[in-house]
Amino acid sequence: MDLLEYQAKDLFQKVGIPVLPSQRIDHPKDLKQLRIPYPIVLKSQVYAGGRGKAGGVRFAENTIDAVAAAQAIFYLPILGQYPEVLLAEAKYEPDQELYLAVVLDPSLRRPLLLGAREGGMALEATSRQIQQVLIDGEFSPFYARRLAINMGLTGELIESVSAIAEKMYRLFLTYDLDLVEINPLAVNPAGEVMALDGKITVNDAALGRHPDLLAMQSGDSRRDRFANRPLLSSAAGPACNGLAASAFDLPNLNPMLFPGSLGILCNGAGLTMATLDLVDQAGGQPSACLNLGGESSYRLPPDTLCDRLEKGLDWILQTQRLQSVLLNLLGGVETCNAVARAIARYLKQQRQPVSVPLVVRLGGSHAAKAREQLSALNLPRLFVLDSLDEAITRAIALSEEAEVRR
Ligand code: GDP
Ligand code: MN
Repeated sequence: MDLLEYQAKDLFQKVGIPVLPSQRIDHPKDLKQLRIPYPIVLKSQVYAGGRGKAGGVRFAENTIDAVAAAQAIFYLPILGQYPEVLLAEAKYEPDQELYLAVVLDPSLRRPLLLGAREGGMALEATSRQIQQVLIDGEFSPFYARRLAINMGLTGELIESVSAIAEKMYRLFLTYDLDLVEINPLAVNPAGEVMALDGKITVNDAALGRHPDLLAMQSGDSRRDRFANRPLLSSAAGPACNGLAASAFDLPNLNPMLFPGSLGILCNGAGLTMATLDLVDQAGGQPSACLNLGGESSYRLPPDTLCDRLEKGLDWILQTQRLQSVLLNLLGGVETCNAVARAIARYLKQQRQPVSVPLVVRLGGSHAAKAREQLSALNLPRLFVLDSLDEAITRAIALSEEAEVRR
């Protein structure tokens, strides 16, 4: 689950990360009762990034300017998403804009501190210069200092920036976050630092432990926050809003289309190609094949594997000639239980029963339990199999049976 900027800043304030005085704006007329002095910045509160470039961040010197700017921002979609609220914030004059983030490294299963001296909107161009410090043991302020030094900071900035990185790390641990990012962390001529923007992704599996975060989600009336996001964009970059993602290779969710009738959904490029090969070797005729991407959420923020699975099913079920779908999924950070629940939820939510059989093979953490749960649903068109070979054989047989019947 992603937080909006103003929600992230509420958490920043709680842990002592400096933020500017601000006010939530639900309607342009709220600006008539503004409690912060002009000049101000008005910012669109959407989950997507790149608001600055898209025109979603505007400055205003007085109420008339501010109302006009607010009206413009409310009607400006950013990556297809309209804001429900804006944030009005005191204007800050940065001298320098830095980038800081804490993410979970999915392969090492350890937190990673990220930082760059050229942050703000310049970051995309310089993402190669993002410094990384892996927290490979008990945390100590030394890690944060090392990040600041690797970023090339000098003098008092080493202390002030590493203090912020440390607070971000504490926030990351306390709230079970997948990502906490400040871009930009502004530095003014006096050397003071200020979080001008904030992005937080909460680990969905940990939400139960944080009723305060859950309350933020229910305060957001857009239930389907992912509905507008293009899953199959040829450039996954702009569809991803955490700039932390740009520090890593982004897997593009590029679908592959073939002339057969068997659909394939997998998570991870290696697994997808291996599955496609095995289906081919077993004489199957694939129709569409989609890699849902690695399991970690920050590579494709803000969605989790379960979110992408839902979108992937939506997509594959509307492809041509489809007669059966093979889901070959490996659970890890998102366990097989979570994946099984996502499949069950998806099938139950459909207005009409899914018209083609689904063959599911789950491997990885809690796989046996997850298979039991799915089998216990007793859905006539859902086949849950232990081995990949059996799953492939079954999916091929089902697609061919249907071909013969046609
Ligand atoms: P994003 O484009 O969605 O990441 O939105 P940001 O909140 O990062 O804003 C984009 C840019 O606007 C930042 O990189 C800053 O340069 C600028 N900006 C945002 N807030 C302020 C502010 O309070 N004062 C000034 N001077 N610039 C700001
Ligand atoms: Mn930003």
